[in-house]
Amino acid sequence: MRRFFRIEHNGGPRYAIEEQGEWRLLEGDIFGSYTAGETISSTGHQLLAPVLPSKIVCVGLNYKDHAAEQNKPLPPEPLLFIKPSTSVIGPDEAIVLPEGIGRVDHEAECAVVIGRRATRVSERDAMDYVLGITCVNDVTARELQNKGASYTRAKGFDTFAPVGPCIAQGLDSNAAGGLRVEGWVNGEKRQGSSTNELIFPIPMLIAYISANMTLLPGDIISTGTPSGIGPLRAGDTVTIKVEGVGELTNSVR
Ligand code: ZN
Repeated sequence: MRRFFRIEHNGGPRYAIEEQGEWRLLEGDIFGSYTAGETISSTGHQLLAPVLPSKIVCVGLNYKDHAAEQNKPLPPEPLLFIKPSTSVIGPDEAIVLPEGIGRVDHEAECAVVIGRRATRVSERDAMDYVLGITCVNDVTARELQNKGASYTRAKGFDTFAPVGPCIAQGLDSNAAGGLRVEGWVNGEKRQGSSTNELIFPIPMLIAYISANMTLLPGDIISTGTPSGIGPLRAGDTVTIKVEGVGELTNSVR
């Protein structure tokens, strides 16, 4: 397994490749050809969002238990919406609660980072277009959403898309087979499930979405959240964990 971290290095962003605990600077293009360069320390780096996507395509109600807790019927086809690129933040950055919009929830999600341009890709070939897996917190203004505001408005605020801590490659990601997905608030587990429970699995989602819109290198598909979503308050610390990827932690203010 290999993990890609995007770090602050000598005043600018750089990718580092972690393999068996050793970190090396990536020389070249993570979406093209690259080699592993100079060895660097494996600790003490400021982590950045591992990718800056042109769009995050999200899937709503993709776990049965979450649809049940929202009192919503299971969608017959994937329910898609987009979080804007401007909502992305990296590990350890603060989620900022806007004034006066009511309850804001965490949503722990396993996400796919697209590795190459994908238009009308078949389900069988879908995983060839994946660079790796990351964690997304699909932060949601729940009251706005329930009042009938569009998903775009309820989920599109600045800082509402923490991504990270890395892109993990080589996980058994055939449908990301059974990766644990967890959401924690202030050290307490609130969400726990597995990508085995996805109603629409990852290859199907890539085929379905790429038949609708072209996915560009770096774009993210966030696959939906299991049950246990709940409110965030100023001063909270929220952590999303996806097995093999690691932990994405953000404060709330
Ligand atoms: Zn979500």
